[in-house]
Amino acid sequence: MERVFIALGSNLGNRQDNLNRALAALAATVAITARSSVYETDPAYVLDQPSFLNMVVAGDTALPARSLLSELKRIEVDIGRVPTRRNGPRVIDLDILYYGNQVIETGRLVVPHPRLSERLFVLEPLAEIAPDMRHPGSDLTARAMLERLREGE
Ligand code: AMP
Repeated sequence: MERVFIALGSNLGNRQDNLNRALAALAATVAITARSSVYETDPAYVLDQPSFLNMVVAGDTALPARSLLSELKRIEVDIGRVPTRRNGPRVIDLDILYYGNQVIETGRLVVPHPRLSERLFVLEPLAEIAPDMRHPGSDLTARAMLERLREGE
């Protein structure tokens, strides 16, 4: 079993319903141990799109990391995600933030998520449920990364 952290985001359709559906689908393979509040956030990167609902959950899974990624992609398609421009609007987005303390870099999968430390919409909910969890690369806690990002703004 590995403890995983997964970020969820939605900015199309019934956003809360999309998060709920993703959580329900995720529960089949990940035993959820903690979930953050839901945060409403302004879009990043591509600014002319609706605001997002974001949250982070932690849980335990027996799935290998690559199988977990495939499962997340399957859930995204199931909920109705269609291919769109990079960082554009989406019904649901599921990202693996951490997979235990593992550092993984394959063509398809990079863990810890490479943009984790630059995203308030990830760090706020992550620091809410796991403030002392350390990034296996930088060794910074979620709280420290959040403080750094806020100071840099
Ligand atoms: P996205 O547009 O955010 O759904 O991500 C597009 C692609 O990023 C996915 O198809 C994955 O192959 C790749 N990817 C790489 N690392 C990760 C990660 N840690 N979590 C989710 N997707 C990832």
